[in-house]
Amino acid sequence: MTRPGDPARRARLLHEGNRRPGPVLHWMSRDQRVDDNWALLHAADLARQRRTTLHVAFALDPAFPGATRRAWDFLVRGLEEVEATLRRQGIPFHLLTGDPPAELIRFCRKYKIGEVVTDFSPLRHKRRWMAGLAEATGLPVVEADAHNIVPCWLASPKQEFAARTLRLKLNRSLSDWLEEFPPLDPPSAPSHLPPPTDWEGVRQAVAGARPVPPVDWLDPGPAAARAHLQRFVAGPLRTYALTRNDPTRDGTSNLSPWLHFGHLSAQRAALAAGPAAAPDEARLAFLEELVVRRELSDNFCLYNPSYDTPEGYPAWAKKTLALHAHDPREHLYDLDTFAAARTHDDLWNAAQRQMIRTGKMHGYLRMYWAKKILEWTPTVAEAHRIALTLNDTWELDGRDPNGYVGVAWSLGGVHDRPWANRPIFGTIRCMTANGCRSKFRVPDFLARWPA
Ligand SMILES: Cc1cc2nc3c(=O)[nH]c(=O)nc-3n(C[C@H](O)[C@H](O)[C@H](O)COP(=O)(O)OP(=O)(O)OC[C@H]3O[C@@H](n4cnc5c(N)ncnc54)[C@H](O)[C@@H]3O)c2cc1C
Repeated sequence: MTRPGDPARRARLLHEGNRRPGPVLHWMSRDQRVDDNWALLHAADLARQRRTTLHVAFALDPAFPGATRRAWDFLVRGLEEVEATLRRQGIPFHLLTGDPPAELIRFCRKYKIGEVVTDFSPLRHKRRWMAGLAEATGLPVVEADAHNIVPCWLASPKQEFAARTLRLKLNRSLSDWLEEFPPLDPPSAPSHLPPPTDWEGVRQAVAGARPVPPVDWLDPGPAAARAHLQRFVAGPLRTYALTRNDPTRDGTSNLSPWLHFGHLSAQRAALAAGPAAAPDEARLAFLEELVVRRELSDNFCLYNPSYDTPEGYPAWAKKTLALHAHDPREHLYDLDTFAAARTHDDLWNAAQRQMIRTGKMHGYLRMYWAKKILEWTPTVAEAHRIALTLNDTWELDGRDPNGYVGVAWSLGGVHDRPWANRPIFGTIRCMTANGCRSKFRVPDFLARWPA
């Protein structure tokens, strides 16, 4: 039996394996923070119960396909802070560099690990790595959901149809799960900590990544994330409901890069927004995005193996897109033209430049931007590939379930419904430049992101 506040209720055994007497390993992956981390809390509890020590390891793959200098910079600087925080609490941190399952298998053997606890991710590379580790070591592997407020597999046992169906389920149980985190109570420290990580060496190991420059308008790491959250709930949250869809205003939280790297827990953000001095309308609109939409993305990726291709679209969307597959396209562009922001559409180009320069395109424009790619490419498969490639090259929050679902919603009607029939789109919801003009001052946005 587990109680509120017990991290065990957010964990499930993925691979039974053979429990051995050695230390517990917390394999930190998606949630790169020490505070407010249910997976780390669960690993620490297990280590205490078993009267053994706790190790934390992060497996960094310098050859991760498509990785950029921008993303590595954010990740590596965040991990430096994680290591420093853990060392202050006497918990050893190990940065493993290379093929993740191979490095973790080696590590488990070297340190005679008895059990592994990792954080939950619905994405296939992490699930493959977990299976590889479990098979090769024969150890019990537990995953704990440190990313969602309601553990993804408990929120729903199946792929949800739309936001409204998941919202109903979440609303029924959210008050049970939206609880304060217990403090981390470190188990007994090992006799000595490993030497600190050679972070310069790590930077060199990832120096060959794609040359997308880091950004400097936000600092990575849990401390910067918490400070930014405090500023947001004390200020812009008040007008969130009114300004969030206006790309010329700084009306959204900008929390997504920290949420993506797990520098900030969404549960912490929800706990901070709950009692904030903001109108109900603003708090509810923010929680709808932060909780329902975000957790819906994890739900889709967990239960739909084709989460990043048109195979994952609903049947009605596949059908309507197939009926319009041969509709004439007035403009056709290839990946390089899109990437260089050289389409005929000033608004699209400006949105692309905002993403290239800041690593974060405004959320309202992401929908317009993706839908136009469908309109200006020969096939939906090509449009899907281009949209994800651009998104995951430049967005700091890229390679995230929210991105896979954002693209699948825009191009393939995922979580949406049929709308009026149009060329190319069929009954997929379409967005136009005129629609944008009615929502915000397009010339102001163009002036902010000149060529
Ligand atoms: C084509 C397309 C691509 C996208 N790519 C990504 C991506 O790669 N990574 C990513 O995190 N989000 C992505 N989104 C979702 C959304 O646009 C961003 O999460 C949001 O713009 C982040 O800005 P913010 O933190 O200021 O958002 P806020 O409006 O302040 O929202 C708070 C948090 O709620 C969550 N959220 C907001 N909108 C959505 C949404 N539509 N779906 C799911 N969660 C949401 C995010 O975690 C966000 O940080 C994409 C959307 C589209 C249409």
